[in-house]
Amino acid sequence: MVNEWLIYMLVIILAGTLSLFLCLYVQIKIKDGPGVKPYIYMTLFSTIFIFSYAFELSSSELEQILFWVRIQYLFMPFIPAFILLMCVEYAGHKIKPWITYCLFILPITTIFMHNTNNLHQLYYTSAELRSDAPFPVLSLQYGPWFYVHSIFVLLCVVMGVIILIMKMRRSLFRFRMQLLTMTVGLLMPILGNYFYLNDLSPHGIDLGPVSMSASFLLHAAAIISFQMFNVGPIARDTVFESMKDGVMVLNQNEVIVDFNRAMGDVLSSLSQQVIGKPIKKVLRNHPELFNMIEQEAEGDIQLVVGVKKSYFHIRFTPVWNKTELLGKIITFVDVSERVHIQQRLEQLASTDGLTNLFNRTSFITQAEAAFSAADQNHDAISVIMFDIDYFKAVNDTYGHGAGDAVLTTTAKTAKNTLRPGDVIGRYGGEEFVICLPHTSQEEARDLAEKIRITIADSIIHLDGNSINVTSSFGVSSALLREGDHSHSLHSLMKEADMALYEAKRNGRNYVQAYSEAVEMM
Ligand code: GH3
Ligand code: MG
Ligand code: MG
Repeated sequence: MVNEWLIYMLVIILAGTLSLFLCLYVQIKIKDGPGVKPYIYMTLFSTIFIFSYAFELSSSELEQILFWVRIQYLFMPFIPAFILLMCVEYAGHKIKPWITYCLFILPITTIFMHNTNNLHQLYYTSAELRSDAPFPVLSLQYGPWFYVHSIFVLLCVVMGVIILIMKMRRSLFRFRMQLLTMTVGLLMPILGNYFYLNDLSPHGIDLGPVSMSASFLLHAAAIISFQMFNVGPIARDTVFESMKDGVMVLNQNEVIVDFNRAMGDVLSSLSQQVIGKPIKKVLRNHPELFNMIEQEAEGDIQLVVGVKKSYFHIRFTPVWNKTELLGKIITFVDVSERVHIQQRLEQLASTDGLTNLFNRTSFITQAEAAFSAADQNHDAISVIMFDIDYFKAVNDTYGHGAGDAVLTTTAKTAKNTLRPGDVIGRYGGEEFVICLPHTSQEEARDLAEKIRITIADSIIHLDGNSINVTSSFGVSSALLREGDHSHSLHSLMKEADMALYEAKRNGRNYVQAYSEAVEMM
């Protein structure tokens, strides 16, 4: 029955070639990744094992056959350990190095037992050639250690397969196909072994190595077609924990179900103990944040992280189980940099670069708000316009830089004299404007007088020069009575400007109120 022998040989050589091909393919093309190293060892050891078996099948003498069996037993016992390690690594589990070492104790013992079998006969009790086979086939009577080894093989492969199936349940389709083909591939030799050990294989041929050809065909499908090792699934827990953004998961009863490491860094009140507790209780000291979460109001919030004030953008994503709402995911994205840039831009857009006072546009915005409030409360409101006297002469005498210094000092002097709630802006070149809420004409005049005296009394020392300037002031006021719509911010500013013009005419360094100015006109 040479033909039958030839078929076995061809199948075995196919298995060995496939195994060698996969070993080289993974080593050259993929190199690294979870499960890759154990897989390379597994295929390398399988190749040696399978080709040794091919030599065994082509040997005719018992001594020759036993020689090749010994070679097989130097490599085969490690294969199940590598299979298990590959599955564990591929599924994203970490195992301690000492467990890995322990996994190799049994294969090493098996090799020892096999090689010293003549002394104790614990591995096999007799070895002879079968008389009923058409070609020489070894028949062994196994001893107890063979069964220990067989159970180890079975346990390793079954555990590996269970790990892959567990992974499959939580994986995307692509990963499921990788895992399914690999799982079936791993189970094939077990099936072959089952037939062999129960004497169901033809002529008592070991079907383990034979079934490996089908097994490696499936491996090839998993690795080449479904890109196993190349695009393996990354454990979801790892993704969740590695996220830069803080993530918190609440169930439908607003109870904290989970949160990641980044979230723990954002809120120091989050610890493992808060899992299962209502968010309301945990955020007792953050009422503003709790309101946002309760109302699912997306937006920015300022939180103190450690000692640093940071801004977070909060987003909500509902979690659905088909039709049922299970809870929500809350994401905290650190937007401090964006908020700071925004604040800086707003500040740059609203202030005058030289004096740091409001520019004309933002002064009008602020003053309009103050005017509306005064109008609603039927309150008094005043406006002061002032202009530095003979400022052109400062520039001409001391230079433009000195002029700038005078502007800055004057702005500071005026600002320091004001009360909280008063609004001051640079209206133009060396002209300033002040809006004074709840202020009568009397009070506004007094304040203008105070500023006038302070400016007139201050001396600016610059580059060995002592510069002294004066300013002229125009004041306008209104009591915004109910139903009286004759006043506006615009009219008050116009009146103050007219009064300022009068102050200049009156000889400068002077405070002129609008009502008096009108009487004088
Ligand atoms: P008056 O008492 O009538 O107000 O006389 P004045 O010289 O102060 O008024 P005028 O309007 O003739 O001159 C204002 C000068 O202010 C002219 C302009 O070059 C100068 N000026 C405007 N803006 C700046 C600035 O930002 N820096 C400096 N150094 N000078 C400025
Ligand atoms: Mg001037
Ligand atoms: Mg001027």
